[in-house]
Amino acid sequence: MKILLVEDDSRLRSRLKDDLSRRGYAVDTADNGIDAEHLGAEWPYDAVILDLGLPQRPGIEVLKNWRAQGNTVPVLILTARDAWHEKVDGFNAGADDYVAKPFHVEELCARLGALLRRAHAQPTGVVTAAGLTLDEARQSVSLGGREIGLSGVEFRLLRYFMLHPGQVLSKTHLAEHIYDNDSERDSNVIEVYVSHLRNKIGAETITTRRGQGYVFGAPG
Ligand code: CA
Repeated sequence: MKILLVEDDSRLRSRLKDDLSRRGYAVDTADNGIDAEHLGAEWPYDAVILDLGLPQRPGIEVLKNWRAQGNTVPVLILTARDAWHEKVDGFNAGADDYVAKPFHVEELCARLGALLRRAHAQPTGVVTAAGLTLDEARQSVSLGGREIGLSGVEFRLLRYFMLHPGQVLSKTHLAEHIYDNDSERDSNVIEVYVSHLRNKIGAETITTRRGQGYVFGAPG
């Protein structure tokens, strides 16, 4: 899943990017409101972490503009501590959740995970599909009780498949949700990763729709 992280404090931004990447997210970053608004309008992010105090354009305006354009991406805002009015303004502008600074990264990640689960109508941090069990907290996937060894990209790809069972997903779409914008996004590489996954979880679990893409967990 791909996250847009908007934060002008460079130390906090790079620390959060590392933390989120380690937890299996592809992360794009922006350090001002104008770039943030542009990226959010351009890319299909799975969620956005948005600082409100930003140079060039305040976070609240960025959020209002996205919502006015019909962009329903889940947004978690970062607010100043004790600034209750920021939270109220944020919710009124269309925020889905907030974390007040300073925060523990564990709290941010837990809230982000909850936000993504709500977006996918998943009640817990454990996802099951096609006989597989994925544990978000442990970053692990098991099949019939046995843990499967997966690389970072394989985990991200399989998680995306498991959250979208039965949907036709094109290689381009998958690449957009699995890689950050700094990575080389060659959608042909998706084929290679799909074949790795098939070797590990069973070829029948991911069906190819010629000219369209892949379907996870579809019968036949
Ligand atoms: Ca700030």
